[in-house]
Amino acid sequence: MMKNIAILGSTGSIGTQTLDVVREHGDLSVVALAAGNNIKLLEEQIREFHPKVAAVWDEEKAAVLRDSVKDCAVTVVCGMDGLLTVATIPDSEILVTAIVGMLGIRPTIAAIKSGKNIALANKETLVTAGHIIMPLAKEYGVSILPVDSEHSAIFQSLNGEHNNKIERILLTASGGPFRGKTKKDLEQVTLEDALKHPNWSMGRKITIDSATLVNKGLEVMEAKWLFGVELEQIVVVVQPQSVIHSMVEYEDGAVIAQLGTPDMRLPIQYALYYPNRRTLSGDRLDFYKLKEITFEEPDTETFRGLALAFDAMKKGGNVPTIFNAANEKAVAKFLNREIRFLEIPEIIESCMNQCSYVENPSVEEILETEKEVYEWIEGRWVK
Ligand code: NDP
Repeated sequence: MMKNIAILGSTGSIGTQTLDVVREHGDLSVVALAAGNNIKLLEEQIREFHPKVAAVWDEEKAAVLRDSVKDCAVTVVCGMDGLLTVATIPDSEILVTAIVGMLGIRPTIAAIKSGKNIALANKETLVTAGHIIMPLAKEYGVSILPVDSEHSAIFQSLNGEHNNKIERILLTASGGPFRGKTKKDLEQVTLEDALKHPNWSMGRKITIDSATLVNKGLEVMEAKWLFGVELEQIVVVVQPQSVIHSMVEYEDGAVIAQLGTPDMRLPIQYALYYPNRRTLSGDRLDFYKLKEITFEEPDTETFRGLALAFDAMKKGGNVPTIFNAANEKAVAKFLNREIRFLEIPEIIESCMNQCSYVENPSVEEILETEKEVYEWIEGRWVK
């Protein structure tokens, strides 16, 4: 049976790999797409996948695209309204959230309220608004299906376990390009060094987040919301080969893991077809060649971002939002060569100390917190 999907962020790393999955099978139909700036690729996607609606963030770019696809049966929309239209389009069953950052909060909430299942890549949404999104998904009877490889691994390791008690979630981490380095080494690193991830090819923001280990911190928060466990039950385990994508330990000590080559198409496909598996082309794990899988404790002294994430989650309220917004802004500045690598955690920590605390933030308060953090960094942060 045909399954209709919509994608937010179709021109990005997760978005294009989602379309690769669509190409592999004949039973997924793309009804709506949204992108930021890349109207050239979006046009190609419109011509190949024939969505009914396409959204572009910028109004002028939307006008250019509208003109270039006037021979196609597609409506081109723009801005936040455009994202909301894509998120809630009546004929889609599932929304893939593959945009970056807190921009995803409102479309995700709108999609849930329209009864869509969510294939969630956009972790920043759960980090900042997990306390709103998870109960809402329950209320509307929709599933939040993880796309992040670690969370998909946990999800797969929970399969068939019904209500068996989880003792710990063992969230694996590659350690990023700077694993084993000291803080002194990190003083010298460049943007190019930080963009070289050892195992995964991803968008620029998450690649930097992987180098600072902030990504692992965001994933800890994401796991807490997705699987309803206590923060103390989540343990980060560095596993540099990225072969074990994460594990669940049960109360009898049994550890169930999901292993595979680093290929995001697998978790994307698993979310789209859950609970079924499908064939997937590509390399398979060769244990004879692999020879060993090694483990380490994460170095939270050097990679402060991970320690700060645990701290933010413990404090709760809008502190995860402060953590996330400060990181989004700091990473944008680092990508723009305005700050040094080690300033990313410094900025996060300053914002966590300076910005105002809100107990159980509403969506409006989350967005206000984001604004306050941005203003604080722009106005007060000095190197
Ligand atoms: P990319 O930077 O590769 O892609 C981001 C996508 O969002 C692009 O399609 C971009 O459009 C679009 N976008 C950006 N701004 C807007 C906007 N204002 N309106 C509409 N669309 C916009 O990111 P990734 O694919 O790497 O990451 C996406 C999310 O998935 C992130 O939350 C990340 O943490 C998460 N994730 C990613 C993984 C990966 O392997 N890449 C793994 C696990 C999670 P355009 O390019 O046209 O501007």
